[in-house]
Amino acid sequence: MAVLRSYVEGRWTAPPSGEPVHDAVTGEEVAQVSSEGIDLGAALAYGRSVGGPALRELTFHQRAALLKSVGQLLREHRDELYQLSFRTGATLADSKFDIDGGIGVLLGYASKGRRELPDDRVYVEGPAEPLGRAGQFLGRHVLTPLHGVAVQINAFNFPVWGPLEKLAPALLAGVPTLVKPASQTGYLTARVVELVVEAGLLPPGALQLLNGDARDLLDHLQEQDLLGFTGSASTAQRLRSHPTVVARSVRFNAEADSLNMSVLGPDAAPGTTAFDLYVRQLVVEMTTKAGQKCTAIRRAFVPADRLEAVAEAVSERLAKIVVGNPADESVRMGALASREQREEVRRSLKALESAGRIVFGDPERVAVTGADAERGAFLSPILLRADDPRRAEVHEVEAFGPVSTLVGYRDAADVVALAALGKGSLAGSVVTDDPDFARDVVLGSAAWHGRLLVLDSDAAAESTGHGSPLPALVHGGPGRAGGGEELGGIRGVLHHMQRTAVQGSPRMLTSVTGQWTRGAARDESGGHPFRKSLAQLRVGDSVVAGPRVVTLDDIERFAEFTGDTFYAHMDEQAAAANPFFDGRVAHGYLVVSFAAGLFVQPDPGPVLANYGIDELRFVAPVYPGDELTVTLTCKAINPRPGDYGEVRWDTVVTKQDGSVAAQYDVLTMVAKEWP
Ligand code: NDP
Repeated sequence: MAVLRSYVEGRWTAPPSGEPVHDAVTGEEVAQVSSEGIDLGAALAYGRSVGGPALRELTFHQRAALLKSVGQLLREHRDELYQLSFRTGATLADSKFDIDGGIGVLLGYASKGRRELPDDRVYVEGPAEPLGRAGQFLGRHVLTPLHGVAVQINAFNFPVWGPLEKLAPALLAGVPTLVKPASQTGYLTARVVELVVEAGLLPPGALQLLNGDARDLLDHLQEQDLLGFTGSASTAQRLRSHPTVVARSVRFNAEADSLNMSVLGPDAAPGTTAFDLYVRQLVVEMTTKAGQKCTAIRRAFVPADRLEAVAEAVSERLAKIVVGNPADESVRMGALASREQREEVRRSLKALESAGRIVFGDPERVAVTGADAERGAFLSPILLRADDPRRAEVHEVEAFGPVSTLVGYRDAADVVALAALGKGSLAGSVVTDDPDFARDVVLGSAAWHGRLLVLDSDAAAESTGHGSPLPALVHGGPGRAGGGEELGGIRGVLHHMQRTAVQGSPRMLTSVTGQWTRGAARDESGGHPFRKSLAQLRVGDSVVAGPRVVTLDDIERFAEFTGDTFYAHMDEQAAAANPFFDGRVAHGYLVVSFAAGLFVQPDPGPVLANYGIDELRFVAPVYPGDELTVTLTCKAINPRPGDYGEVRWDTVVTKQDGSVAAQYDVLTMVAKEWP
């Protein structure tokens, strides 16, 4: 049997022999794995010196396009990947979770990158912070990509989603990746990497693969590298305290196992929608990936007087789950990843049985369809019922298989206390149609959770379920769950970047950030900036327009025309009694409308549309007789794919004495070329 190849320093390599890895269903040898002889220090150095610079040269939008092309490529090869995935014990539905889920993360990040990040290499965060009285000394946060390699060490259960959910934010940030899959299912990860490498989609050094033991990999980590881990809590602890990780402050993120809860609300009696949702969800979570899911429900909290009813309903559904060869269409639950893993689950079950009793399933026996029950790593779904809801085993022992324990509770406060006994979870769910109960449980147990799903009858049809991490939402959890955070949209990208506070004058901050900063010079010499295409426009291009006097007649006409006859605009006495005003004032929207009338350039031109206003503040009241002047300055230019881009205009409306009446950012779409 061939040894799985690794892809390091721009070439494929494999030692002559390795440890055998077995098919989870047939027990046959699938591959051998070993990393012997691979120079891991050189692999990291290659990533830093070749992959990093190539990625940093690209803008966020260009990197997003790479992610999209990788996602599209893998989508075309899904069927091949599904076939290989059967060998890990996964059914087609499981594989969709893993493979389509992974592709979904790539495409999700590609789209977020284009929409939420600039077509630039630097990410500017938050507003400029004034640090001096005269406005000539400010601070601003910028984020730039780390100059190291994002090393990811993955678990056996999601050989495709695991690497891709870590690759997407790293690549978007501009940081190269080295993937180390779990040996048990690394052959599937290896095929994914092969496809990407063969297609030549990524710059050299952007993606490397290490199959087999990590050996001395961590010894070679440096200050700019990152280490991302998914797997057992004990390995997480070993990696976190590795001397090199500690000494060089290597940015470390762990996502470890946890005992996730799902709570049935007190309102959910048998026969209600919530009861059915709860039962269905519990069975799905127990049997998807044969329960080998870091987010699976391990602790099923139900009102104490409903233990019997839930046990019965769940058992009834579990009895219909066909266990066996995942390639067989009638099969609903495949095999565990390996027979060793099954032994591990049986050992954990022994501990759980000391704290409760099995109400469904037999750890030693299961009817198997389409496969040899002895050769494959098959296990029956097992539902337990805890005798004492506070027994430590229930909250501490994770059987990483199709195993859940029913636990009775008294009230919301009891749920919150029981939740905390898990010492930190990735995901939890509350199934209820009672908003007060949902609030009490969510706010009471949020500190112990990375993600909480509230499932009610309104959300049921659209809900993605208890166990699905989503690219836009944070994945990870406190304490036992590893104390880390992945995904969460752009948050996950920023994790791979260094946040630096830059202090200086508006002129210098404008140059560093590429965004015009109030207080820096404006350029009115090139004519009206609305006559400039994206290709001609520069940040700092500006126009000053006005003044225009606001009359009482203007205010009354605006009131009548729009219907906004709020007393502060219409009734002198009442307005004067208002603590903010000395008499009748102009509508804020009138001020904004007059400003638009002042800065407009009416002819057809490169400005295609005004699509919004950000951070609008009416700073001071405008009285009849006041004169308005507006200053519009190009603040940021954001090209989009296609023929146009977004331009953000700093807008300040001042009165005759120079005081500010209103300030905001106007957002426009501008053509890249004109005419
Ligand atoms: P491990 O923590 O042993 O392995 C996870 C990954 O870490 C694998 O890629 C493994 O490589 C690697 N690894 C192990 N030791 C080291 C080390 N010293 N240095 C560098 N890398 C290392 O978890 P398992 O996969 O064995 O699963 C054990 C248990 O972990 C499960 O039973 C379950 O309880 C939990 N688990 C939790 C998961 C989650 O998503 N949170 C997922 C999977 C498991 P290799 O495979 O080559 O040994």
